Amino acid sequence: MRGSAVVGLILVGACVAPFAEVVELPPQTTTTSVAVANPTTSSTVATTTTGPLPSTTTLPSPLALISPSGVPVPILRTEGRLHTVLTPCGNERPLARGTPLFQTDVVIDPGHGGEYDTGATARSGLPEKDVNLRVALALQELLTDRGIASILTRTADYPSRLFVRARLADAVEAKLMVSIHHNAPNGFRSETPGTEVFIQRDSAESARLGGLLYQYTMDAYDNLEGVDWTAAGDAGVMTVLNPEGDDAYGIIRMPETPTALIELGYMSNPTEARLFSTDAYPYVAAHALARAIEAYLGTAEQGSGFGPGRTFRPLPGISANRCVDPDLG
Ligand SMILES: [Zn+2]
Repeated sequence: MRGSAVVGLILVGACVAPFAEVVELPPQTTTTSVAVANPTTSSTVATTTTGPLPSTTTLPSPLALISPSGVPVPILRTEGRLHTVLTPCGNERPLARGTPLFQTDVVIDPGHGGEYDTGATARSGLPEKDVNLRVALALQELLTDRGIASILTRTADYPSRLFVRARLADAVEAKLMVSIHHNAPNGFRSETPGTEVFIQRDSAESARLGGLLYQYTMDAYDNLEGVDWTAAGDAGVMTVLNPEGDDAYGIIRMPETPTALIELGYMSNPTEARLFSTDAYPYVAAHALARAIEAYLGTAEQGSGFGPGRTFRPLPGISANRCVDPDLG
């Protein structure tokens, strides 16, 4: 647990940090050329009727790597066997080794991470970043059980800039990204959970994903007893726009990948925080999210809970300078 002044600060602000990441995205041309390499080769093979066939022994270039220490990083360019990757703090680094990643359907984004971006903090001292990661790891396990490939944007307690998370999802050509959060400050007492889902302004896919995440989470929470829920009056699925009309939250605004951010419940409500601290909880939440993802990928279900949305200027987030890269190994 960190100092009480810090905890107090966190409890009065939303748990997402919309303006924490103002760094411009590096050009994506290199990643794009890697992504089209294989379709081009396939097309050439299919249409060539004379002369030698192109070599089929060339392995496709990876789109991202899991570093030797377990950190997923998007590849910016490749020369020979040496990759240049984007670190979690947004720095370019050479990386010669790692587990190659190719197209991956689902990207799971555990919100926050590291010493300076803990997210919301419960009165017990439990930080949101830990709960988010536990749910994310459980979700990856349940998706694997269902035969759905996924990667995480962060795999341990280290910081990761929003534009790097967005870049990773786009690099692996994900069909969807789910950003996992737990909310603050307190809503009002409510008969129903205060789950909120934020979706991309101009994306029907993001809206459908958000609707399904909301519907399946509410179904799962319905079965929980002994929790005194809190909720904002407009809880549900919504866009959150800044006064200029753009998506206010960076992890919603930045990726091309259809993305939804779910605030599963309230860290600032002691009875909810007690639930989040149990060993069973990550699997309760992850089971709901896995069912929603399965429905998104395999059905035309639209979900539920859609509301009119919010417009406001969010508070500045964590300083962009406070980012220390994890060891890539
Ligand atoms: Zn958060």
